Parts: sequence; C-alpha cells; structure tokens
Amino acid sequence: MSALHDLSLREAAARVRRREISATELARDAFARIAAVDGQVGAFLTLDEAGALATAAAVDRRVAAGEDPGPLGGVPIGVKDIICTAGLRTTAGSRILERFVPSYDATVTARLRRAGAVIVGKLNCDEFAMGSSTENSALGTTRNPWDGARVPGGSSGGSGAAVAARECHAALGTDTGGSVRLPAAFCGVAGMKPTYGRVSRYGVIAYASSLDQVGPIAREVADVAVVLEAIAGHDPADSTASPRPVPSYAAALEGSVRGLRLGLPREYFVEGMQPDVERGVRAAVGELERLGAAVEPVSLPHTEYAIATYYLIATAEASSNLARYDGIRYGLREPRPALTEMYEATRAAGFGAEVKRRIMLGTYALSAGYYDAYYLKAQQVRTLIRRDFQQALARCDALVTPVAPTTAFRLGEKTADPLTMYLSDIFTISVNLAGLPALALPCGFDGAGLPIGLQVIGRPFDEATVLRIGHAYEQATAWHRKGAPL
Ligand code: GLN
Repeated sequence: MSALHDLSLREAAARVRRREISATELARDAFARIAAVDGQVGAFLTLDEAGALATAAAVDRRVAAGEDPGPLGGVPIGVKDIICTAGLRTTAGSRILERFVPSYDATVTARLRRAGAVIVGKLNCDEFAMGSSTENSALGTTRNPWDGARVPGGSSGGSGAAVAARECHAALGTDTGGSVRLPAAFCGVAGMKPTYGRVSRYGVIAYASSLDQVGPIAREVADVAVVLEAIAGHDPADSTASPRPVPSYAAALEGSVRGLRLGLPREYFVEGMQPDVERGVRAAVGELERLGAAVEPVSLPHTEYAIATYYLIATAEASSNLARYDGIRYGLREPRPALTEMYEATRAAGFGAEVKRRIMLGTYALSAGYYDAYYLKAQQVRTLIRRDFQQALARCDALVTPVAPTTAFRLGEKTADPLTMYLSDIFTISVNLAGLPALALPCGFDGAGLPIGLQVIGRPFDEATVLRIGHAYEQATAWHRKGAPL
C-alpha cells in the first residue's frame, strides 16, 4: 500500500531482517524519492549513492548469511553536514569548508555504520549551526516540506526537512540552543536533544562546546529511541562523553505515563505567543492528563535572562572554536604574500555575515576588561538557570512546554533582524544551558496547516522517561501520521 520510504524506521529495519525487502531496494527507493522531491526541498548538500549502495549490498550479504545486520540494518539515514563522514565532503554549511573531505568518521557516524545504517548523504544547515532557519547556509536554501515558502527551522533544517519529506527514515542533527528541536517542530517530526554528555561530540565540528549535542530526528518517537540507543554512550575520544551505561530506550517506551508528575513552567506561556501554538500545546497537556499524568504549574524564574546568557556563552566559545580556520590546516585559503594578510583574506572570504558577527561578539565578551562583566556574569546566570530546572525537576518527572512561540515563518521574514531570529529559540535555549534532555514532537496544526511542536524536558540522563511520555502521547494521537503534502 505505502511506498518503502513511507515505512517507519523500525518497520523498514524489521522487513530487511525478515528478508521481505532488501537493503538495496530500500536504498534505491530512497534515492528515487530524493530525485523526485529534493529539487523542491533542498535538504541535501551531498549525496553518496555509490557508498550507500555498497553499504546496502553488504547488509544484504549479512542477512543472507544469517547474521544480525544491526538495529539500523539497511535503513537509509541522512547526516547533518556538520558531522564528519570519512571520504565524504563535510561543509558545516560554510564556504570555508566547501571542499573539506574528512579523513575520519565522527564517533556518531561510525556508530550509525556499526548499527547497519545506510548513510545516503549530508544535510544542509546554518553555517556552523548558527541560526534558526537554515537561511545562514552559504551553500543552498532548504524549504519546509509543508509549505515551500517557509523555512524548515534550523540550524538542522536539512535534517528536519529530509525526514518530513520522507527522503530518509531518520537523520542526525546537532542542538546547541534548539537546532534539533526547532526543525523537528517546524517540519512536524520528532527530534531529541540528549543530556549533555550522553552522545560523543568527537568529529562533530564544534560551535559552542559546552552546549553542543548530537540528536536524532525521525517520524516517530520510537524511531528516535532506536537511533539514540545506537549513537549514545562513552567514547574515549571525547572526555565529556559520559561513561554511564546506555539503557534500552526502545524497551523504556513501554510503560504508561500514569502517575507521572508533569510541570508546566509559567514563564513558557507568555504574551506574544501565536494563539494556535498555545492552544495546541494546552490541548496536548490535557491529553497527557487524560492518560493519567498529574500536571502542576512550576516556575523557572530566570528564564528571561536565557537568551542574553546563551548569546554570550555561545559566541565566546564559537570565537575560540572558529580560530582554527586560518587557511593553513584545512579548508579555504586565499593566498597572500604575508601570513597575516592571508589569514584575514581567508576568513573574510570564507565566513558569512552571521558567523563574523558572532566571532566579533564572542571575542569582545572574552577580552580583557570585559571578561568579568560579560562572560563571567553569563556563567553565573547559567548556574541560576540550571538551579531553576533542578528545583522544578525535583518535584516533577518532566516539564512540558511549546518548542517555539510560532510555527514555521516565511523565508526572508527574519533575515534582516538577527535579534528576532534569536527569539525563535526562547523556549529551547535554557535546556542547553542546563544540559538537560528534551524531545520535540508534533501536537497539532495551526490555521495555515503548519505543524506545532510540543517539548518534553527531562532530568539529566533520563531520556527514557522523556521518550516514554512522547511515545504515550503519540500512541493516543494521530498528528505524527499526517505526512507533509509533498
Ligand atoms: N539558533 C541558535 C543559534 O543560532 C541555536 C542554534 C543551534 O542549536 N545550533 O545559536
């Protein structure tokens, strides 16, 4: 009845395992789908058809030999182009890395391969993951599969759009201040930012190292759980990757939400929110209550400082991380007779306007004389924001909020005003400052037929409860089943 690309990730993997379909057929179907729709969506920057077919053939041989092809065996998956893939161009959406081909796989890439995934290509993103709409990519425009005049969200916009357009069954994104959750919400799919340290950052091009986490995007919460389980866990190559054992997230989905205490932060239901979004999220909260959860109001009093705090810390870390693009070690070089001139010309030509703005802001925040007033102060406020969550999550098992104050906005609507763009992350950014896990999933549509996102925030390393809540909600509702009209 439905095409192969319409199958859920788990269903596709199960059919490969049962030999009802081959990994090769799945891969061919994915590339046919990409050829049919990606001209309209623009999710992919690079395709790897030859590599994908070779991996698929290897999976088919393993299945034929009676071996286990792995939990993602034969499933077409896309990877945000800020995550290194050996031998496959990795641009971070930037001119400065336009021709960069990594010599190694990120740990998450290697773990996808180990789990049997078939990596189909690399997905567009805001330059160095700085943005909320993917419009800061120097390499192309990605459109929202629900409405081609609108943004897919960002910075992992290619990942959200590709999954919503059924070009792959899941994708990896990265989330520094909302970049997995916002595109998931705008594109009507599920996406999770894991606890800081749950997933290795080795081989992930760094934006703001104390905030960055890799997270999966898929069409169902249960599929997110399967991918997370495959990529999570200790990594000797990343000292911030936690040695805690990874539970079976798929098994954790089974329980109900009965008896769970869910907090509703009052600072997240504010004046100025799109009325349809508030209505959709409140209805979802009602549904969770009907399923047996107890809902109570909570307060996160330092919420109003989150955007300012984030944009000091993130830009400070970015200015340091991006110092490595000097025209010498990798990427673009603008040759000049003197070294300093070469640095300047390379960085002037290679970085886009938003990246330059952030390097300047971050350098200023870290400079002698201003460090205490800006960077140090921001770190102190970060502690207060984290404490707000600790207190709320001491009483509640999880918090429920909108992902964003609006649904997907129009291409070009916010590009002229960086501050308005920054406000898209007002409900997601604090979660990164506090290092917590959070899931975005669809909970309705606005008057224009655009998806609304629900956010579930959990205790540190309690992805299992967050996924369980999301899965229970999804089982009771049908929002996730309505595919993008493409
Ligand atoms: N929009 C935020 C920023 O521009 C978050 C981006 C992200 O999570 N990578 O920094």
